[in-house]
Amino acid sequence: MKKLIQGIVDFRKNLTEESRELFAKLALGQKPDSLFIACSDSRVVPNLFASTNPGDLFVLRNVGNLVPPASSEDASASAAIEFSVFALNISDIIVCGHSECGAMQALVKNADVQSCPHMMSWLKYGEESLNIVKKGGAINPTLSLHNQLSQVNVLQQIEHIKSYPFVRERLEKKTLRIHGWWFDIAHADVYCYEKELNQFILIDEKEAMLIMKRLGG
Ligand SMILES: [Zn+2]
Repeated sequence: MKKLIQGIVDFRKNLTEESRELFAKLALGQKPDSLFIACSDSRVVPNLFASTNPGDLFVLRNVGNLVPPASSEDASASAAIEFSVFALNISDIIVCGHSECGAMQALVKNADVQSCPHMMSWLKYGEESLNIVKKGGAINPTLSLHNQLSQVNVLQQIEHIKSYPFVRERLEKKTLRIHGWWFDIAHADVYCYEKELNQFILIDEKEAMLIMKRLGG
């Protein structure tokens, strides 16, 4: 916590004129083009690994980067999706899982966390992913079981997002795209799911060019 407080003092002291201007401009409104859905894990820092600035990403983070389907009563994730689509008119949604995810480990171990009833209730949105992996549906079987699960879970949460009618409508009209990413903590590498290959591919310069070409514009 002390590091956090000192960090605020340092931030104030080191804020450049350029950053001050950016924040002053952002106070008038935000116009991010993407909704970024990631895990709450402290090691997953989208602004750092994607080199983004304030105002670039609308971010939803929760335990396990889970998205309850449209039929669920859980309103938090749905609210973020609705707001980003209707109010911010974002063009892209990224679901980003990560290696060594505690939520995925809890699912794999069928962890008995009786002291965390809300956590148990929340993790049910990852159970379909677990069933897929148990049935041999891993994308990369060379990974540890919890990492296999976290990759499959990215695709499963994309399916949950697609259960929202307004999302489906925009996907059909091609005004919205959904991407699956995966962050490998040990190597600080980000991977993108390529449907044709059914693999997560490292986003290096070559892959980035392919993705950008696909995005067009
Ligand atoms: Zn996690």
